[in-house]
Amino acid sequence: MDLVLAHKRSMRVAERIGLTTATQTTFATAVSEIARSVIEHTDKGILILALQQNQTRYSLLAVVTYDSEIKFSNDDAGYFYAQKLVPEFSHSDRDSHNRIEMKFGIPRSLKLDPGKIAGIKRVLSEEDPINAYEEIKQRNQTLKTLAEQKEEELRQSKIIDEKKTEFISVASHEIKTPITIIKAYTQIAKGLKNQCSEQVGRLLDKVDAQTNKLLSLIQQLLDITKIENGNLQYVKEEVEFNAFVMEMTDIIRHIYPHNTIKTRLCGQLPVYIDRIRMEQVFSNLLGNAAKYSDKNSEILIICSDENEGMAQISVTDQGIGMSADATERIFDKFYRHTDVVKTHSGLGMGLFVASKIIVDHGGKIWVDSVEDRGSTFHFLLPLRNTGTSAN
Ligand code: ADP
Repeated sequence: MDLVLAHKRSMRVAERIGLTTATQTTFATAVSEIARSVIEHTDKGILILALQQNQTRYSLLAVVTYDSEIKFSNDDAGYFYAQKLVPEFSHSDRDSHNRIEMKFGIPRSLKLDPGKIAGIKRVLSEEDPINAYEEIKQRNQTLKTLAEQKEEELRQSKIIDEKKTEFISVASHEIKTPITIIKAYTQIAKGLKNQCSEQVGRLLDKVDAQTNKLLSLIQQLLDITKIENGNLQYVKEEVEFNAFVMEMTDIIRHIYPHNTIKTRLCGQLPVYIDRIRMEQVFSNLLGNAAKYSDKNSEILIICSDENEGMAQISVTDQGIGMSADATERIFDKFYRHTDVVKTHSGLGMGLFVASKIIVDHGGKIWVDSVEDRGSTFHFLLPLRNTGTSAN
């Protein structure tokens, strides 16, 4: 509360309502007397000026609230004097706050009605601040309102986000079941060798391959919801990484028969990993290497132990590469470079999930790339014998 402001605002409100100059002065003096008494004890007092309606009568009301520990008696000159000035004065001590109400009835002749009141409110709200104190208060209020709006927007968008994540999770589960059944029937049909022609066999292989793609996409969607809910879980075991890379490369060679996949391995690389999740990382990196390169190009996988305490794995392709700007964003959720959106299928989830898996294994992933020349994805995993990987 500010004394000058309390006085001037009371005068201004009383004036706008149309009270006589004498009443304006009396009202403002009473308010100032109480304001001064309160300010002497605390800077946390609050003054509210309001109009109160009782059936068809209106009153001008000043409410001052302040700390309940502050006690006034009629020995306080301001407190005593204000009571003499105001027709209706009340003082209560409720909810750990003192509350003084000063009320002036407004004559019917002033013909106050809701329309007129709205006009007065508008004029008052458009007035410039009376002093620096009020200006700061107004700015504070604006900032507070803005902060509250932003908080509410954030809360709403979190709710929408949670709903979206829940929807993706439920939808993915629902889609996964029939696709798994289609896959099982395809396998059965493929097994009936004598009863279907070679052509049907080839078609079944295609159905099988597409079903696998769909299942992998659904798995990525489910993984994203798990990452968002913080429950992507790992079953880790000790694995020799060169052997793991050989195994993976054999599988991947069947999936991408046109690309030449070469490996350059090193000494022993004992790591502590979740095999299934690491297979996911590999098939994403190698799948991308094949997808974003020419059919017959070479893909090179290098394993090395030269990075202290870490196994380093690099996957190099001779594909389309990417700009410096893209290399900074490819690990973001749903990011796809604009150049590939129309030319290559995908949802921009693979690298987001892969990077999460690597980071959760205590590692790091990054990319070096040159446009039209190719890309190298590197990742590090802690070596088991350093004692840093077991968790
Ligand atoms: P998707 O391949 O489904 O779009 P990813 O998360 O695996 O999703 O990759 C994200 C983006 O990173 C791709 O859309 C592409 O723009 C870029 N990218 C990934 N791997 C390569 C690569 N080997 N060569 C060029 N661009 C790549």
